[in-house]
Order: sequence, then C-alpha cells, then structure tokens
Amino acid sequence: MASGFLFHELYMWHDTGRAALWHPAGLTVEPDLNAENSDTKRRFRNLLDVAGLLDHLVAIKARPAAVDEVQRVHTADYVKRIKTMSDAHGGDAGEATPFGPGSYEIALLAAGGTMAALDAVVGGEVANAYALVRPPGHHAEPDRGRGFCIFGNAALAVRHAQVRHKLGRVAVVDWDVHHGNGTQKMFYEDPSVLTISIHQDNWYPADSGHLHETGAGKGQGYNINVPLPPGSGRDPYIATFERVVAPALRRFKPELIVIASGFDGGIYDPLGRMMVTSTTYRKLARIMIDLAAELCGGRLLLTHEGGYSAAYVPYCGLAVMEELSGRKTNIGDPFAVFIDVAGGHHMYPHQEAVIAKAAALAQAVK
Ligand SMILES: [Zn+2]
Repeated sequence: MASGFLFHELYMWHDTGRAALWHPAGLTVEPDLNAENSDTKRRFRNLLDVAGLLDHLVAIKARPAAVDEVQRVHTADYVKRIKTMSDAHGGDAGEATPFGPGSYEIALLAAGGTMAALDAVVGGEVANAYALVRPPGHHAEPDRGRGFCIFGNAALAVRHAQVRHKLGRVAVVDWDVHHGNGTQKMFYEDPSVLTISIHQDNWYPADSGHLHETGAGKGQGYNINVPLPPGSGRDPYIATFERVVAPALRRFKPELIVIASGFDGGIYDPLGRMMVTSTTYRKLARIMIDLAAELCGGRLLLTHEGGYSAAYVPYCGLAVMEELSGRKTNIGDPFAVFIDVAGGHHMYPHQEAVIAKAAALAQAVK
C-alpha cells in the first residue's frame, strides 16, 4: 500500500509578515522575511516532485476543520478571537504568532487537513501519511497561539482519532527542536495520550519542556520530555529513540502514533542549535515505522511543524518520505558528505545523563 501525502496551496498563502527571524520588524529591527514563511515547505514539496516521489504518493484532499472539532482542544473564545482578527486585517494569535487576513480559514484547513490524513491512515486507504500543513500546531495552547502555531494540528488529529474512530490510546512523538508545549498541555491529565517531546533544552518556549514535567492527575507519567543539550547530533538522537521512545511506546501500546515532525533540529537551522542531518532523520523515521508496524498495525501519521532552513529542510523531508514510502529516489543529500562526518555526532556525558533520566521515565509508563 502506498503512503499518503497531504498539501494545499493555501497553506503557502498564510502570511506571517515582515520580521527578523521571529522578532517583529520596527525602528530597531530591519524588516526581513519571517523565519516561518512558505519557502521551506514549498521547497520540501518541490523536491518530492523533482525526485519523482510525489507520483508514487496518494494525494489526500484537505478539508477545513469544523469549529466544534477545533473546540475539542481550544476554547470557544480563542477560536472566535482568531476569526475576528483574521476577518479584519490579521494580528497576533498570542505570542510570536503573526498572521494576515484569511489565516483563520487557512489554520482550519491545516487542522482539517491533518484530520483528513488521519482518516486515510485509520481507514486503511494508505500505509501511513505525511501532512505538510501550515501554520504549524505544537506550540498552540487551548486559549492562545504561540510560536507560529494557531491551532494544535497534532492534538486535534489525536482527538479526532478518539472521537470519530473510537481509538483508545494514542501516542504523540514530537521531534521538532522546540518543546511541544501545546500538545503537552492539552493532554497533561489524560492517560489515554502519551506525549513525548525530544527538544533542545530550555529553548522555546522559555522554561518549558523539563524532565520533571511528567503529567498530572490521571495523566501522571504519560508525558515525557527529553531536553537534549544544544549541539546534539546523531548518537544522542538515535539513543533517545532506542532507549526512551521505543520502550515507552512498547509499554504504552498505542493504537496510533502521531509524529509532530519539525526539521528544525537540522544542522543548518537558524532557530535551533542541534546537529541532526537527513541521514539521522531517516534513521529516526525507520525506528518509528518499525515501532508502528510492531505495535499498531503500521498506523503512523506525521504532521509538519517547524524547520527553517530553506536549503536543508527539503533533504530531511525527502529522506523521511523515502523511508515512509519504501521508495528510494536518485536524489541524495548533497550536504551529507560534509555534515555526516562532522565532529560532535558522538554521545557526550552531559547528553548521556539526560537520556538516562528520560529512559527511567519511559520504564515507568504503564
Ligand atoms: Zn520548532
């Protein structure tokens, strides 16, 4: 069975305006393109096209999420506020989440697109699926947007799987370089959703994503953070997946795995300080595909989050899509010859210490 791929041109029209990296332009900050713009995502899709892979993927049609679906994780007030601003001239959804006119509808299309991709996976129409949506979702909280995210796409897909498809346990694995604070918050007291975030230690949001944030109430033990030190590359990332993610998922036994897929752990990313290369993303994808096959009939949905190197994200994306689809193209990562042999990919003691603590949390999952 083929893999699914979801995209919509309107995702590229979500306008984050002028900024320098993520900081709004002003009298002391010369206007540049916001780091979260359409380039990285468009170029990711373009490379799939040029590599010939797009022809072998099942195109899944996006649909807008209904307001009551979005309100499964967001407050009615928040959803209304976004619509009002979007209908006028745009605004900011909360913290560092600027948007222009029409972004309300585009954000609904991103959330609904992720749900459509989920439907295709759970319905058995595709082996697995990648939803290349924008705006991203994992920082969005119930009542405010944060970090470029308006609606929690991954969280909404999880709730959709539970409400519409009656799935029980769902796991979310977030490999974006930033903490998946929104997803964590939405399921913090919910033992039916295991949330695991692998991210750069104390990066964004500030003071978020610590090891000691393990869930609360009935959800105690069902949230695992792996705050890797800046500079982490191949070995600590792979060890995290083998020693934390895999045992946690084996104990949890999910019926579906959702990956919040950001490529800003990439070695060239302007908003992260990690050293992940396409070779490592490929390996992480392989581990997750094998886990999904072992635990939940292969049910695996990836939804796009961050990744801000327009030059490099496409090669990370292509590597993941090759693994998902089982089809190798004849386009390789042109940077690999330098970056895979760079110094710093080995495991260092300060990384080992974090992973060992997270591995202990994984052993406590029930
Ligand atoms: Zn990110």
